[in-house]
Amino acid sequence: MNEQVLKAKQIVENYDGRPLRIMEVCGTHTHEIFRLGIRQMLPENIHLISGPGCPVCVTPVGYIDQAIDLALNHHCTICTFGDLIRVPGSDMSLQQARAKGAKIVMIYSPTDAFTYAQSHLDEEVVLLAVGFETTTPASCMAIRDAKKNNLTNFSALVANKTMDNAYLALKDSADAFLYPGHVSTITGCQIYRDLCEEGISGVVTGFTGPEILTALAVIIKKLEKGQPFFMNCYPRVVRDEGSPSARKIIASVMEPCDSIWRGIGNIPGSGLQIKAAYQDFDARKKYGLENTQGHPNPACRCGDILRGDCMPNACPLFGKVCTPEHPVGACMVSNEGSCSAFYKYME
Ligand code: SF4
Repeated sequence: MNEQVLKAKQIVENYDGRPLRIMEVCGTHTHEIFRLGIRQMLPENIHLISGPGCPVCVTPVGYIDQAIDLALNHHCTICTFGDLIRVPGSDMSLQQARAKGAKIVMIYSPTDAFTYAQSHLDEEVVLLAVGFETTTPASCMAIRDAKKNNLTNFSALVANKTMDNAYLALKDSADAFLYPGHVSTITGCQIYRDLCEEGISGVVTGFTGPEILTALAVIIKKLEKGQPFFMNCYPRVVRDEGSPSARKIIASVMEPCDSIWRGIGNIPGSGLQIKAAYQDFDARKKYGLENTQGHPNPACRCGDILRGDCMPNACPLFGKVCTPEHPVGACMVSNEGSCSAFYKYME
């Protein structure tokens, strides 16, 4: 451990000031913090809260219901990331719909759905497009390529989200944020300076132990000064300007809209929808889908967890009725979900 990291570790371990609430908003951070044992080394007055950075966790129940409707009632082939298959909808998951005859194809990138549609012209293919700034460009490329190739059997059910307005909505949930390393490679750092103007503090950090400890030490020291702050503690990967080319692809196909986040509700301007020029590839329009809120299991506390109001092990279903093998809520399904991380790493 080099001298700088050792110093950061000492700052964190020896902190004895007022209680601090620090929210990590990236599911990968949540898992790495557990895996590296960082939670165990924190003093009692530093509380790490897992925020809404797992795309599967924040996708509302109504979206799963729409996907199941497409599969069972419109006989579409659903192309989706694996995690989404096991997320419970109001009445069933996509996995359970599969047992009723739904055709569900697991993909590793949104562009796989375009390729699948090209080679299965006798099927109506729908891409489940979820995720933040890191995965959205690939969904946009799939839609753009479908239009370029006049692919009439392809459309996308879009629930992509952007993070900046979510920080505003969660302003009072934390003293500072650990901003996500991956998303920041696309957004760049200006959004964080803008948040700083709104009184929101945080640092961008990477995923190694030294990087996370350094970020926590920076937060402790900066909070002592009492002024909103931002620092990029991951400059080896996150450039100030982010990725203008990825943002350009997004802006060419999608535009901002209001969006429902599971457990948080509607956050104005935090979602993306397909632009009018690509509306033939919008599954909601193509199949006349009605917007629905869905009915999450009332005992599941995913919403409270995503807002930082409670920890996963405070949920009465945690580890008993709800396990990674039999998830009741989305936070237990995804590898990036906080309930899944708690279950995997807690003794
Ligand atoms: Fe929901 Fe299961 Fe987490 Fe409880 S443990 S909040 S039921 S996902």
